[in-house]
Amino acid sequence: MMFRFNKLLIILLLFFCMSCTQKKQQPFSFVQLSDPQLGMGGYEHDVNTFKLAVKQINELKPDFVIICGDLVHHRSDSSFADFLEIKKDFKMPCYLVAGNHDIGKVPNNTSLTYYREKLGKDYYQFNHKGYSFIVTNSLLWKNNIEKESEKHYKWFKETVRKSNPKIVVGHFPLYIKNYDEQEEYFNIPPGKRMELLNLFADNNVKAYLSGHKHEVLINNYKNIQLVTGETTSKNFDKRPMGFRYWEVSPDTMKHYFIPLQNFQLNKVKH
Ligand SMILES: [Zn+2]
Repeated sequence: MMFRFNKLLIILLLFFCMSCTQKKQQPFSFVQLSDPQLGMGGYEHDVNTFKLAVKQINELKPDFVIICGDLVHHRSDSSFADFLEIKKDFKMPCYLVAGNHDIGKVPNNTSLTYYREKLGKDYYQFNHKGYSFIVTNSLLWKNNIEKESEKHYKWFKETVRKSNPKIVVGHFPLYIKNYDEQEEYFNIPPGKRMELLNLFADNNVKAYLSGHKHEVLINNYKNIQLVTGETTSKNFDKRPMGFRYWEVSPDTMKHYFIPLQNFQLNKVKH
């Protein structure tokens, strides 16, 4: 009788432990790198800073890296090849986002096909330790491109409607200062922006990461962190070059700025 009782207790305990581990989200880290934009701050300069960033990130050993668009300043076979050659040295997965310099301010069939052939998909989703990362093509929100914008938005709405926590990534910030500001060069038109913010709020989106502004933007909309990071090419706000290191735990999601080290040209104090 006692033996039977013990056995039952062990089974119950095992079941309890298993359900605990299944529910508990594992902590992880990743890097948000913005606008390496080879050729914007001087071609050689940007090649060197991007190489330094790769080296430094490899030492930090995050789970993966996301590059928030504007991979090069002038897209061409050679600039994309240079970018890919440096990117190859990452010792962890590296996910790319398409920026206006990569696919054009108003993308078209030719520019999108060129990007997809050279760099791969311009929008996709991946999972990491209980989180869903949705990488978007924000140029298709900024512009209404025949067939492409509609297809992309349909995909996004379907992808965002899953119960797990999510981080959405794009090149353009949704807004710069206020969620109801007018459209300008750096943001998403107000109509589309509000649709997106509402979708984020209704579907467990924890953060939206972007680049493009070449300035740090840290906004919060209904507890959704909206973060635009420093670049490795040129920062308009005179901040040092570098990237953001994110730590995600079951209860918190934090990010820190990490300046590029051993970079002699970077004289700006921080
Ligand atoms: Zn841009």
